[in-house]
Amino acid sequence: MSKRMQVTFEKCKRYDNGRFVSVDGTQLSFAAMTYDAANPSQQNDAADISISNCYMFPAFCDVHVHLREPGFFYKESIATGTAAAARGGYADVFSMANLDPVPDTVENIGAQWDIIKRDATVRVHPYAAITMGLAGRELVDFDALAPLCAGFSDDGKGVQQDAMMEAAMRGAKAVGKIIVAHCEDESLLHGGCIHDGEFAAAHGLPGICSESEWGQIARDLKLAEKTGCAYHVCHISTKESVAVIREAKARGVNVTCETAPHYLTLDDSMIEDHGRFKMNPPIRAAADREALIEGLLDGTIDMIATDHAPHSAEEKAQGLLGSRMGVVGLETAFAVLYTELVKKGIISLEKLVEVMAINPRKRFGLPIKDDDLCVFDLDAQYIVNPEDFATKGRSTPFDGRELFGICRMTVVDGKIVYKN
Ligand SMILES: [Zn+2]
Repeated sequence: MSKRMQVTFEKCKRYDNGRFVSVDGTQLSFAAMTYDAANPSQQNDAADISISNCYMFPAFCDVHVHLREPGFFYKESIATGTAAAARGGYADVFSMANLDPVPDTVENIGAQWDIIKRDATVRVHPYAAITMGLAGRELVDFDALAPLCAGFSDDGKGVQQDAMMEAAMRGAKAVGKIIVAHCEDESLLHGGCIHDGEFAAAHGLPGICSESEWGQIARDLKLAEKTGCAYHVCHISTKESVAVIREAKARGVNVTCETAPHYLTLDDSMIEDHGRFKMNPPIRAAADREALIEGLLDGTIDMIATDHAPHSAEEKAQGLLGSRMGVVGLETAFAVLYTELVKKGIISLEKLVEVMAINPRKRFGLPIKDDDLCVFDLDAQYIVNPEDFATKGRSTPFDGRELFGICRMTVVDGKIVYKN
């Protein structure tokens, strides 16, 4: 039996149906944390506490993370990845399928579920693959996998063949599941490592053109319209992607999309030749970033996901050309977006909560519950130091940044999973 813990909230604000209400002197009772994966040596007592001058949000929901287990334990584990999620204010994360074994059969996704049940500190919703082994040649058994997965995704790779994607959409639709697409036309890649823009030209690096992303999105939007499949686009990064999705939404296509904090706050005039600026899709040009913000404001972009993608230090130490693609994001997402977008008056705090906590749950069919909560001190300032992270990944473009917004507490199903 876990102990109960009383938390008194003084002079706080709580998000309530699209607005903030004052909370002063309210006492809430939570199940006390039994084990703090972020600080395993620290013994957590269940002494009652009070929290003042903080904001209470519905805990966040990230529909795109890479937890790397089973298969790549040296990069991340379910335990460390969900500890990072708890530390970032998340109660729900959706784990991508580029694992070993790939969750393309009931048995293989079962192996992931066994670890989730044993080690996860927040709720994990695994995706099943669209194609066997993510190889793009043979579809998975949608019927068999549907009860065990949140949706179907080959994230990390685009489904190259049009007929294969159309069949996947029909298969997913028949079992009432969503297709979550990483859009990337491999015939346009040419070994690119960063955006095909000014930085690439100035440094003689091979570029990744914008069309490799938006061209495949445009194809999929036609297929989604034709099949009626629920369709979600991962990590959009280009201005053209925003435009084609906006247009598809206007004609009633069943589509949603996400972008990530780094695409909304960085452009290729701000990057360096270091692995911590390398991810897929790449950080694009200033005009793309501006279009993404516009898309966020007008509702074309429904949600912000992190694409948390940890790698080992060695894998990220090979510069822009040689490093693996992917950066971590769970522990900095809120503070980056709050500091760069809310504090600068670009979006409201209410909007940020909507795209981090409300819209993802609406689209992916999860309830918004009162006993999932995160508490942030928005006045607290800190400098991002990856050595403090709970994730095994240390590579982030926000390394050394001064940010506002520290998570004081995360509660999942009425239980404290993180406290600071
Ligand atoms: Zn992806």
